[in-house]
Amino acid sequence: MAAAATVDGSALAGRALAAAGARHMFGVVGIPVTSLASRAAAAGVRFLAFRNEQSAGYAAAAYGFLTGTPGLLLTVSGPGCVHGLAGLSHATANAWPLLMVSGSCDQADAGRGDFQELDQIAATKPFAKLAVKATTIADIPRLVFQALNAAVSGRPGGCYLDIPSDVLHQSIPESEAVDLIAAAAAAAADSAASNPSPPKQNSSIEKAAELLRRAERPLVVIGKGAAYARAEEAIRKLVDTTGIPFLPTPMGKGVVPDSHPLSATAARSLAIGQCDVALVVGARLNWLLHFGEPPKWSKDVKFILVDVCEEEIELRKPHVGIVGDAKKVVELINREIKDDPFCLGRSHPWVEAITKKAKDNVLKMEAQLAKDVVPFNFLTPLRIIRDAILAEGSPAPIVVSEGANTMDVGRAVLVQNEPRTRLDAGTWGTMGVGLGYCIAAAVAEPERLVVAVEGDSGYGFSAMEVETLVRYQLPVVVIVFNNNGVYGGDRRSPDEITGPHKDDPAPTSFVPAAGYHKMMEAFGGKGYLVETPDELKSALSESFRARKPAVINCIIDPYAGAESGRMQHKN
Ligand code: ADP
Repeated sequence: MAAAATVDGSALAGRALAAAGARHMFGVVGIPVTSLASRAAAAGVRFLAFRNEQSAGYAAAAYGFLTGTPGLLLTVSGPGCVHGLAGLSHATANAWPLLMVSGSCDQADAGRGDFQELDQIAATKPFAKLAVKATTIADIPRLVFQALNAAVSGRPGGCYLDIPSDVLHQSIPESEAVDLIAAAAAAAADSAASNPSPPKQNSSIEKAAELLRRAERPLVVIGKGAAYARAEEAIRKLVDTTGIPFLPTPMGKGVVPDSHPLSATAARSLAIGQCDVALVVGARLNWLLHFGEPPKWSKDVKFILVDVCEEEIELRKPHVGIVGDAKKVVELINREIKDDPFCLGRSHPWVEAITKKAKDNVLKMEAQLAKDVVPFNFLTPLRIIRDAILAEGSPAPIVVSEGANTMDVGRAVLVQNEPRTRLDAGTWGTMGVGLGYCIAAAVAEPERLVVAVEGDSGYGFSAMEVETLVRYQLPVVVIVFNNNGVYGGDRRSPDEITGPHKDDPAPTSFVPAAGYHKMMEAFGGKGYLVETPDELKSALSESFRARKPAVINCIIDPYAGAESGRMQHKN
């Protein structure tokens, strides 16, 4: 008689992930999770094998933002788990859903110096909404569903699931595996159905609508939480029907197109400095928004905060706080306004002031952008890249951006007309996110081209992943702004070049004119070296058309950028 079929821990984890709806997983294999990766792939979860867990973690984080479902990160035990903390913490800091799954050492040998031994629950806890360990194979399905659910509920964030190697190697009969997965799915569905929805806040909705109606200088601030919530239709409707100007945060860009006439991006200081009522949707009043305080904001501004996280609202103590999903709340505000509609109109003094200021600033910027400066400053190549991206039309490419000057200047020049098409260093100002983000974007949104605009320093953190791009043949074009180092290489004054190590290169400098494009060529991808507008235009046109992995090494004048970009005061 044939032996009854059995399922081991690796296969059960893979099947539970697939049953819970996972479609992609990012990670690095090795002891004890190699089988988990291939079992998950066999169950339908595409495994993207990286060269480094840090990049795989950033990929999983971005995937969570782009899809609204947890990005999966798989790591080996001990050091692999430690490398994975980068992605786990980055996801939590940005309020993006992620589930990190790590193998860990054999439970029987823990505490005796086992191979890659680490208390991984203790290590991940500070960065995770939930950190759980399967101590026996039967735990796996329930914990998979529980952790995936925790990652997306309330404020999204990172969760952690630990599966010791002995548990991965345990086996159960096939019928028991099927039952365990079915029971875990049913329990997850029950708990979702009984999740308390936020309390009815009709009076807050009415108050918000009334405040906006009576405001003299209202503003809508759009954060990446609104992008995550897919609130674009509701927010566009609000802006269009009321005529209230809007200001996106960097990753809130595109929820309402940057090209919309009520965009206050080019009049940011005026908009936040003078607005009297600000409806802030899915954005924290943290450093990125100057804590909502003077001198950047008026001291009398009344904030209406919409956030899925109650603690966030308690922390900021706004004039009106509305706990809930951005899309649903803005739809309710729209409905409330519809009963007694108002629209500021183009000739409203506030709208006129914002649009005039924005127009003046855009004209000034365009005058700078129009010049072809060679050797390249930041503006000339960014204009050429902007125009090439805009020429792609819809679906718009996803732009990945990092680096001090490259990201700062890029934010002002590059245009986002569709939601969730910008990925950058985010809440933590994390450098090194670049290629991980690119890979996530390419698999999450296969119909879009991915264009990374990277400083040479930012690129260096994850550059080995160009091999991953080639291996999976992803449509990613990486443009490296090569200015010989951090902020532009060696900028020391003579009094800093002293002491026993004075002949060492400056801490900010890299090998001048490094051949980054050749790294891509080494793996069979396409590399370009560009120093002039015509060379850049031709490289962009060829690589965008090819939709294959490419690196464009764009040589920038090392004296063009500012130290610390726009954040000198913090350095
Ligand atoms: P930004 O960097 O764009 O300013 P933040 O990351 O600071 O944005 O803020 C995003 C906010 O969005 C977080 O406070 C988070 O709790 C909130 N958020 C996440 N998901 C939703 C949602 N579905 N609806 C409303 N708010 C959300």
